[in-house]
Amino acid sequence: MRLDGKVALVTGGSRGIGRAVAIRLAETGAVTYINYHRDENAAQQTCSLIAEEGGVGRISRFDVADYERTQASIGDIIRENGRLDILVNNAGIAVDGLLVRMKESDWDRLIGTNLKGALNCCHAVSRVMIRQKWGRIINIASVVAEAGNAGQAAYAASKAGLLGLTKSLARELASRSICVNAVAPGFIKTDMTAALSVQAKEKILEQIPMSRLGTPEDVAGVVAFLASDEAGYITGQIIRVNGGLYM
Ligand code: NAP
Repeated sequence: MRLDGKVALVTGGSRGIGRAVAIRLAETGAVTYINYHRDENAAQQTCSLIAEEGGVGRISRFDVADYERTQASIGDIIRENGRLDILVNNAGIAVDGLLVRMKESDWDRLIGTNLKGALNCCHAVSRVMIRQKWGRIINIASVVAEAGNAGQAAYAASKAGLLGLTKSLARELASRSICVNAVAPGFIKTDMTAALSVQAKEKILEQIPMSRLGTPEDVAGVVAFLASDEAGYITGQIIRVNGGLYM
C-alpha cells in the first residue's frame, strides 16, 4: 500500500489524530501538508517527526472556517504541486455542555469549524480531483454522530452533518474515481479527551468491549487504507473505529 507521487492535505494535522494521520500518509510516500490554526510549534514538531522517518511534510496555516483563506491556501498547494490527491478533513473542536446552557457563539464556532470547515476544503479540492480523475476525501466524524451524546448536541450535529456531506459528495464524485468516506472514531487518547475526568473515563471504558481508549494510530491506519488505490471501490461509507462502543 504506497502513496508515492500523491499529494495529501490533513487539516488539523498538527496534533492528535491529525498528526498520526499526517505521519502515516507521509511514511506511505505522500507529500503531506499539515494544516493548523494556532499552534505553530505542534505543526513544526509533526513536520520534524515526518522528516525523521524520511518523509516529506509541509506546513499550511489557515482557519478552515474562513472560506476565503481556505480557498487561497489550498489553491497555493495545488499551484505548488500541480495536483492534490488526498484530503483528510480532520480539524475539529469540541465545546461540551447541555443545550440549555449553550451560547449561540459556541454553536456557530462548532458548526463553522467542524462542518463548514470541511465543506470549505471539499469545495477547494473538488475541481482539481475531477480534472485528475482520482481523489480521496476522508472526513473524520465521530461515534456521537450516530449514537448521540448528552452534553454534545451541537458537536454531534456537526459530525452528523459530515456524514450527509460524505454520502452526497460520494454520489457526486464517484464517476471520476473520487472516493469520499467518513471515519467515525470512538474515544481516542488526544488533547480533546484529556480534559475528561477520571470518573467520566471509567464510565466510557465500561461501555467499550475492547476496554481501552483508542490511539491516534488506530485511526491513522484506517485513513491511510482509505487513501490508497486498494480502497478504490469503497465510497460513501462510514468506517467506525471505536473498539466496539457502537455497532
Ligand atoms: P485535537 O487533539 O484537539 O486536535 C485538533 C486539531 O485541529 C489541531 O491540529 C488544531 O490545530 C486543529 N484545528 C482546530 N480548529 C481549527 C481550525 N479552525 N482550522 C484549522 N485547524 C484547526 O483533536 P483530536 O482529538 O485529534 O481530534 C481530531 C478530529 O477527530 C476532530 O475532528 C475530532 O472532532 C475528531 N474526533 C476525535 C475523537 C477523540 O476522542 N479524540 C473522537 C471522535 C472524533 P491548532 O492547535 O493549531 O488549533
